[in-house]
Amino acid sequence: MEFDLINLVRNNVRDLKPYSSARDEYISDGSAMVFMDANESPYSNGINRYPDPHQRQLKSLLASRYNLSPANILIGNGSDEVLDLIFRAFCEPQQDNIITMPPTYGMYKVLAGINAIENREVLLTKNYELNVEKILEAINSNTKAIFLCSPNNPTGNSFSETHIEDLLNNFHGLLVVDEAYIDFANHDSWLNRLGQFPNLVVTRTFSKAYGMAGLRLGVCYASEEVITVLNRIKPPYNVNELTQQKAFQMIQNTDVLERQVEEILTERDLMAQQLEKINFIKEIYPTDANFILVKVDDADKRYREILELGVVVRNRSTQPLCNNSLRFTVGTPEENKRLLKVLNSL
Ligand SMILES: *Cc1c(COP(=O)(O)O)cnc(C)c1O
Repeated sequence: MEFDLINLVRNNVRDLKPYSSARDEYISDGSAMVFMDANESPYSNGINRYPDPHQRQLKSLLASRYNLSPANILIGNGSDEVLDLIFRAFCEPQQDNIITMPPTYGMYKVLAGINAIENREVLLTKNYELNVEKILEAINSNTKAIFLCSPNNPTGNSFSETHIEDLLNNFHGLLVVDEAYIDFANHDSWLNRLGQFPNLVVTRTFSKAYGMAGLRLGVCYASEEVITVLNRIKPPYNVNELTQQKAFQMIQNTDVLERQVEEILTERDLMAQQLEKINFIKEIYPTDANFILVKVDDADKRYREILELGVVVRNRSTQPLCNNSLRFTVGTPEENKRLLKVLNSL
């Protein structure tokens, strides 16, 4: 069976007529018009008009940056919205399934639950690699998507390119690669391969390296056909005006971003070296992200002790293959010194 997008889409979505907003029916070309079509307030305050439902400015900036077309891009209210749209466009409640590979980002499972979709879990191997054989065995005719996160949260490692290629070549549903942490990795993004694989979907967020978690901006990159399907069900004004404006300004300023990422990477390596000397840390996992996962003697106890001394880390011990594991986000040099000081005092 080949990749066949029409068969993947839910029946109701295939036949759906998208809501046509006032801003769809009249597209401003910048000329001075009187807007009496959307029941907005006429009094200017910067946000009295509805935002561009297609985020044209942002999309053209991103498209030129990654050598893609705006038609390959869907923008959402955080990548969590983008992921939810994928469920709602392709997965039939009570019938279809998705595959995830724990330990991984918790939202895939939550979204499967909300959308009444079976979540088939295929654990990573002990070394936190993809178990391709087991994943392929878990696929059936109702498997619409596989969600993986590379670099992976909470383990920090990226998955092997050949493993991901194997999945792309042998699975005829959507393979969603969540690249929330790609800016911290020293390997290529799967964005470069979009043209090669019609079933590849890449999601990105502005919440991590770009420093805009409070803004809520996530992006989905895929073939024009996949994006067209997602656009049919997207709420018309899902990305607000302030977010669009602020992101547009900040994204252009790549110098600041690059300096910050450089510093995080230097600090991450320094932190990893210093963690080696802490006697209750048993293992430090390699990372391509802006955090480090470590195994300690007793995670619940260490978590409480660290918290009492004013530093909030993440206890990931309840995740499969992560018993007694803590996750440290890399902070500023001062914050990292503080964490080390706390760890050394225990
Ligand atoms: C943090 C994170 C996100 C971010 O989601 P937003 O909704 O864009 O803030 C997405 N995926 C993974 C794996 C993450 O760790």
